[in-house]
Amino acid sequence: MSREILAKSLPLKRDVFLLSIIRRSDAMALASSSRIRAAAVIATVVVMLGHYFLPPRYITVHPVDNSTYNIYSDGDWGGESSVAWLDKSATRWLCHFKKSPAHPVCGLAVHWGDARSQFINAEGYSLLRLTLKYKGPAHALRIYIRNFDEQHGVLEDRDTHKFMSVNIPADEFSQFEARSHSTEIALSELQVADWWKSEYNVDRHQAKPAFNRMTSFGIDFPVPPVMGEHTLELERVELVGTWIPAENLYLGIILAWLLGLLLETAWHMYRWRRVAKENFRQVKDLTDYAEALKLKSEKYRELSHIDSLTKVYNRYGFMQTLKKLFGRGALNGCLMIIDIDYFKKINDNFGHVAGDKILHEIAQVFARNVRKNDVFARWGGEEFVLLVTHYDLKQARALAEKLRLLIKDYDFNTVQNIQVTISIGLTSFSKSDSLNSAFLRADEALYSAKTQGRNQVVIACND
Ligand code: GH3
Ligand code: MG
Ligand code: MG
Repeated sequence: MSREILAKSLPLKRDVFLLSIIRRSDAMALASSSRIRAAAVIATVVVMLGHYFLPPRYITVHPVDNSTYNIYSDGDWGGESSVAWLDKSATRWLCHFKKSPAHPVCGLAVHWGDARSQFINAEGYSLLRLTLKYKGPAHALRIYIRNFDEQHGVLEDRDTHKFMSVNIPADEFSQFEARSHSTEIALSELQVADWWKSEYNVDRHQAKPAFNRMTSFGIDFPVPPVMGEHTLELERVELVGTWIPAENLYLGIILAWLLGLLLETAWHMYRWRRVAKENFRQVKDLTDYAEALKLKSEKYRELSHIDSLTKVYNRYGFMQTLKKLFGRGALNGCLMIIDIDYFKKINDNFGHVAGDKILHEIAQVFARNVRKNDVFARWGGEEFVLLVTHYDLKQARALAEKLRLLIKDYDFNTVQNIQVTISIGLTSFSKSDSLNSAFLRADEALYSAKTQGRNQVVIACND
């Protein structure tokens, strides 16, 4: 029994241990999860600050070694205007607009390498930064970029490349006399020229500015140009952009956070499921344990009521059963005290073990021959008590005689041909009787039975 209890109590100890581990690991998990979150917040701030302070990236458009510089004017196709290098190595040139029937044109175009193989991809770049000196009567200069698009252009024919331009007031550029400074133009300011759209029959949906395959960069003048001499010097042109576009970065951060939160939720769900399972198992173990305890307490209760040798009630069991049957009310029926005759001799002749077995057999004969409501018990030694409920003396005497004869004629398994007899003192309960008073009378009757020769029933009247 105690081993069973121990076995049952072991899972409990293990559960407490496991739960403590789970709770400890829970606390650790929560702590590490808030640490991860704090780290994620710091990482986000660092990434955003890094992005903000990250130096921009550049593409140099001019000066570049393999670029070709082309100055042009309407003089090239029969007009009056002219263009000339003042200093080609410094990219300084002079435009001289003169009235003519032809459309006055003058400008510079920069191409990089062979257009077939070399495009500039300005995707992800947002600014065009140029350092340009200007002297002349123009109010504005036109800055343009051409971008190749196979849908609308022919690679070899640069005129077919998408033409995007913006007019910038002339005073935004450096003066020749002063220190040069750069002018920043957002690429988004450049618009696809209407003449190009109509010339190549491009509908407005397809004619959006594009800078993924830039083939040339140029400077000329808004139409109509201001007549006279215009001196220009191109120092530097570069595209300025960020390493990662801000919208991509923020989208990435949001996605990373969403993914992180999703993973965290999944992880928590997994953990809670484990804890719930563990709790459920523990409750089951506790229920089993309670059930086992209940069984054990019932067993112990039974053991405390039953005599281990004869398997009938002991004195405590007898008293408890009486309490149950009569409560505080008066006892009724009859009481017998039964004592085995010359039992000492049986022990002496056949040994104590045989004596034990005979005791057990006699008790069982009695147990088999009394009614359910009668209370039979071993009082001690080789003495038994029997309380027969609702019987008067006559009925009880008949029963006592029957039992006496049963024992006298009983064929004991333990010792062949042995004859064992019993003496019985019998009395009935009067209304004023307690168990003690009735017991004393029955005991006296038993004593009489012994003195009168044993193997008999003697009645003690209760008058
Ligand atoms: P009487 O007819 O006067 O009752 O004689 P008796 O020998 O039965 O009475 P006595 O009181 O002298 O002896 C009772 C004996 O019962 C003594 C004791 O050894 C024996 N006895 C008591 N309890 C047990 C027991 O549990 N097992 C065995 N084997 N013997 C027991
Ligand atoms: Mg005795
Ligand atoms: Mg005896």
